[in-house]
Amino acid sequence: MKILVAVKRVIDYNVKIRVKPDQTGVETANVKMSMNPFDEIAVEEGIRLRENGGAEELIAISVGSKQAQETIRTALAMGADRGIHVATDEEIEPLAVAKILKAIAVKENPDLIILGKQAIDDDSNQTGQMLAALLDWPQGTFASELTINESIAHITREIDGGLETLNLKMPAIITTDLRLNTPRYASLPNIMKAKKKTIDEISPADLEVDISPRITTLKVEEPSSRQAGVIVEDVAQLVDKLRNEAKVI
Ligand code: AMP
Repeated sequence: MKILVAVKRVIDYNVKIRVKPDQTGVETANVKMSMNPFDEIAVEEGIRLRENGGAEELIAISVGSKQAQETIRTALAMGADRGIHVATDEEIEPLAVAKILKAIAVKENPDLIILGKQAIDDDSNQTGQMLAALLDWPQGTFASELTINESIAHITREIDGGLETLNLKMPAIITTDLRLNTPRYASLPNIMKAKKKTIDEISPADLEVDISPRITTLKVEEPSSRQAGVIVEDVAQLVDKLRNEAKVI
């Protein structure tokens, strides 16, 4: 079995996001970048499938600038076998990423493609679903458990008020939820080994994919800041404020 895993380079989840003064986007210069957390879970799941004999090859793919190779290297250091970097300096939308992943899937013929459920920078939650539609493959989104049996992927999804289990006939698309696993840290020997692993660099044009944007961002704004709180004297004052100032009772 061959597995593709999509890894995006995003602003690290610990960084406090700052909006650019001209409101066209958020500051990315001199900001710590990391692998999207849901993609770390995707890589970990792929490695576990390979370690327990369920898969022979795990390929990490990232679409983006030259630095996206660092994200691929992280996946290789965790345990992926090789990488594919689709190089572009353009801002790339989920539909374009889905088309690129489709083109790679047609060449590589994987049994499973694992993506994060969402990228924490754009919060789109679209790429996996679009990819499944483009390939016409079954999809299991927000997976919190995954087992493979013969050519069936059994997945559990957390839904409102319970769990849903799905059987997907492979090839299939899986997107990861937080509880699927806890990703490993790359050990120093594995970081060294990862330097020798191959990353193929291609362009969207090599894959004959048009990545021109379909969406225009009109404006990005900071959330409005919270007003300072007050300490009330007693319950009567609290009720009065809720009734007459907040007008919620
Ligand atoms: P999104 O639909 O943007 O929320 O992203 C969902 C998932 O698609 C991410 O968790 C990644 O697995 C994958 N993905 C999105 N953009 C990229 C990218 N530029 N390179 C590689 N994978 C991506």
